[in-house]
Amino acid sequence: MADDATVSVTDESLREEVRVWLQKNWTGAPANEIERRAWLAKVVEARWAVLRWPAQWAGRELSDSRARIIEREFAAVGAPGTGQDRTNLWANTLLTGGTMALKDKLVLPLLRGEVGMCLLYSEPGAGSDLAAIRTRAERRGDHFVINGQKVWTSYAASADYGMLIARTDWDVPKHRGISFFFLPMKQPGVEVRPLRQITDERQFNEVFITDAICPEENLLGELGQGWGVLQTALAYERSAMGEGARGPRSGLAEGDGEEPLIALAREAGRLGDPLIRQEIAKVIALRRLNALNTARAKAELKQGTSSALMSLGKLAMSRILHEEARVRTTILGAGSLLEGPDFPRADDANFLTLNAYFTSIGGGTDQIQRNIIGERVLGLPKEPEVDRDIPFRDVRSS
Ligand SMILES: Cc1cc2nc3c(=O)[nH]c(=O)nc-3n(C[C@H](O)[C@H](O)[C@H](O)COP(=O)(O)OP(=O)(O)OC[C@H]3O[C@@H](n4cnc5c(N)ncnc54)[C@H](O)[C@@H]3O)c2cc1C
Repeated sequence: MADDATVSVTDESLREEVRVWLQKNWTGAPANEIERRAWLAKVVEARWAVLRWPAQWAGRELSDSRARIIEREFAAVGAPGTGQDRTNLWANTLLTGGTMALKDKLVLPLLRGEVGMCLLYSEPGAGSDLAAIRTRAERRGDHFVINGQKVWTSYAASADYGMLIARTDWDVPKHRGISFFFLPMKQPGVEVRPLRQITDERQFNEVFITDAICPEENLLGELGQGWGVLQTALAYERSAMGEGARGPRSGLAEGDGEEPLIALAREAGRLGDPLIRQEIAKVIALRRLNALNTARAKAELKQGTSSALMSLGKLAMSRILHEEARVRTTILGAGSLLEGPDFPRADDANFLTLNAYFTSIGGGTDQIQRNIIGERVLGLPKEPEVDRDIPFRDVRSS
């Protein structure tokens, strides 16, 4: 990307430009989905959405430090929509591997939040070992025919497209015969069945795919090279999961800007308790460490490598979420055994305890992140894999 130092823009002029634009256009948080999309469309049109991207795709080709200036101004007024070149998994994956026809069709709608997406990776026999997928894609003229089953597919019910990995060659070792597609979800060959989660929500689904059609232009990367595209997509997903997570679902305010755990301890009359103070301090220290680590991982990703450091951030976030939920429960004591809308603090603590597993399983389990860190960051020997180098057709399945 071009170095914006050569362009006649200064940090100050950029800051001023975005401030003036926000003053003129930002009138407060959108009240509904229609307003949210209208806001995103404005941000994209003004080229604030993907600051480091090429101008051809609504970007400004800014350096990271300049992009951060704009992101800070958006954050200062609470406006969403910028920074999507770091956070929009779908658009980033498409920009990296998509055909020109698919980019023309979907990049801008994805940035404007107009397209629903889901991830069609996991299968009943392939979760941690994603390369063991058995969903197949067969070329027929100018399209592919897809057959198989996916599971744990979040938001499949409302998705327009699914990022799909499917096997296109059974005669090569398992990592080499996989291709990556944007599968249109709204077609007769795609059946979505909801699953109920431990938090009583229903975001998960099973997806049954029978003779579904995927146009040739929806193939990302080369045929059989989907594993590489998947690694880039997983790095973006882990990076997003490593940065944040859902808060309490009661929506009750805690502490008006104060650290939520401190506010909760104050409210419960336990802020003077040395054990509680120590537990809260540990969580804050973990969060700070993770923020620094994430910044380092982002810098590496910018240089074009899919960073194994993303796994560190995701693993850290998983630990932070479990620790936070545990400290909330400790602060509430026996009161945490209560449940339901009459006891919102206990309800929040219990929800967060259960929901912490979202990050320790989704996007690759904690154990898998430890394997990646061991092998790619610490340089430890690889796990033995007996089926790595044989044609997938000859791999025994359970
Ligand atoms: C909230 C949430 C959202 C999700 N959303 C999606 C989605 O949108 N799309 C999608 O495709 N999938 C999604 N998933 C599925 C998720 O990616 C898988 O559940 C995950 O990769 C684990 O696969 P598995 O469930 O098959 O468990 P398995 O792979 O069977 O693992 C079972 C246990 O064995 C351990 N294990 C397995 N292999 C190893 C190893 N080599 N070394 C050490 N330990 C190992 C695991 O850590 C785990 O504890 C989601 C999951 C969750 C929880």
